[in-house]
Amino acid sequence: MPNYIEGGVTRMSVLRPSKWKIAPQITLVVILVFLGCWAGSWIGRLVIIRSDRGHMLALSNQLLKRAEKVFNEADLVLSRTNGSEHPFCSEEEVDYLRNMLFETKYLKDIGRVKDGAFHCSAVYGPAKAPSPLAKPDLETDDGILVYANTPLAISSATAPIIGNKNANVVLDPTAFDALNDPIYSFGIMFNPSGNQNPLGIFGTLNLGLQLEKLSEGAGRDGDIVFRNVCNARSCVTLHAKVRDLEDSAFPIEASIIGLGGALGGAVGVIMLLLQQKRLSIGARLTEALDRQSLTVEYQPIIDIQSNEPRSAEALVRWIDNGEAISPDIFIPVAEEEGLIGRVTLYVIDRVFADMGPFLQKDRRFRINVNISASDLIDPEFVPTLANRLKRANIQTEQLGLEITERSTANAAAAVDAIHLLRSRGHRIYIDDFGTGYSSLAYLGELNVDGIKMDKSFTQTVGTGSVTVSIVPQIIEMARVLGLSIIVEGIETAMQRDYFAGLKTEIGGQGWFYGRPVNAMAMQKLIQASSI
Ligand code: C2E
Ligand code: CA
Ligand code: CA
Repeated sequence: MPNYIEGGVTRMSVLRPSKWKIAPQITLVVILVFLGCWAGSWIGRLVIIRSDRGHMLALSNQLLKRAEKVFNEADLVLSRTNGSEHPFCSEEEVDYLRNMLFETKYLKDIGRVKDGAFHCSAVYGPAKAPSPLAKPDLETDDGILVYANTPLAISSATAPIIGNKNANVVLDPTAFDALNDPIYSFGIMFNPSGNQNPLGIFGTLNLGLQLEKLSEGAGRDGDIVFRNVCNARSCVTLHAKVRDLEDSAFPIEASIIGLGGALGGAVGVIMLLLQQKRLSIGARLTEALDRQSLTVEYQPIIDIQSNEPRSAEALVRWIDNGEAISPDIFIPVAEEEGLIGRVTLYVIDRVFADMGPFLQKDRRFRINVNISASDLIDPEFVPTLANRLKRANIQTEQLGLEITERSTANAAAAVDAIHLLRSRGHRIYIDDFGTGYSSLAYLGELNVDGIKMDKSFTQTVGTGSVTVSIVPQIIEMARVLGLSIIVEGIETAMQRDYFAGLKTEIGGQGWFYGRPVNAMAMQKLIQASSI
């Protein structure tokens, strides 16, 4: 019987560390928050760099396209002006220029020049006297004159001008304003054919300057990121200050960092809660063992051919504050927290207390209990078992032991323990057979008494599943190896009929024959079936 003092010590030792573990757990959450933030900032930067790159590429391409349209329009109008058939600067010609100007999109004026002087234009009409033209910023090899930001001949305004032969056009200085982005500065350059260098005529970068041929591409120069693109007629250079990009991206970056931190924190808290739940299950189970509040239910195992109950399986039950906790939940925790030995002995004590007189009356009836790997290799297990059997006046043959395939992973130790237990008269079954890795050949080595075929196989009966086709083979090979068979999870008459039809001695267990019930109900059920 579990001893209260001993249990108290154990309880303290389980509860105490959970308090001491709080500091490392908070550290874990803090570390995860930091890791989350770090990952967030890393991802954030990556996203921002990518989006900046994408934005620079898109913006420079848009500017280049616009430049192409502006220069194409200038070319077309220059050639149409030079091809005018009207008398030079006559009223008809000025009208002709005005009509043309009205149809343009990026030009402010169309002028006529001769011998280096301005004579008339669409906007100003004929000049009172020819006024001399300023010196161009660039004269191309093919005779095109380019003015970057020149005061107009008859006004104080400045604009880029392109001239060819006896015509020139004033380009709209606002032609690129729609593409303006406050973080980026740009320059649009006239790109002469041949070997001459381009001249900046729009935007704030390189205005009026003729630079070395632009090397195309993107990069970073100190605290500036840039992109240069050119086509046959124009070049675009685009700049942004790293600091400005960072400032504009700060809200996005901050939210991604925050999100990363929150995610890290959430993972940490979930880990903490899971760990605390496990800890609290362990602590509460220790208390339940101390208070002896666990109970045991019994499920009959019936001979399928004769319909007689020959044995029963003992299944532990735990109701904690009105909540039933499944053994599937707390047995693994008990195994991990070193409590399983206490659970096993508790169940055995319970079985003897519940079923002792019944087992003494019917010496052929057997109860199977579930044991774990650590019980199997515990050198104290066999003598303790022998002691309790003797004290309860129960024969060794009346206590069967069910072990899962997992418990036999340490094969050498398992073989020895099984040999010893069998030599004392216990029947040993491999539980949940078919769900693990053991083959029937491996079973031969383990030298057990029988197998309990897992309920997943039973559930395939009548479904046409391929799994069912291996059921007769398992049963036949088990028979050849001299192993007895218990089929688990028989829920329907159809499943029962299927196994009865195999004409082999098979034990059946499942809801069809009876759900797990308390000892009293179990005894009534057995007495009723043997009348
Ligand atoms: P198990 O050893 O395979 O036990 C059989 C499980 O199948 C039991 O679940 C039982 O209630 C359930 N069962 C019985 N007949 C049917 C059926 O017709 N259909 C279906 N679907 N299920 C059926 P339970 O009691 O929840 O136990 C779950 C597992 O917990 C057991 O599986 C066993 O591995 C473990 N366990 C239970 N009691 C103990 C114990 O005292 N000690 C140890 N170490 N493990 C135990
Ligand atoms: Ca079992
Ligand atoms: Ca089982």
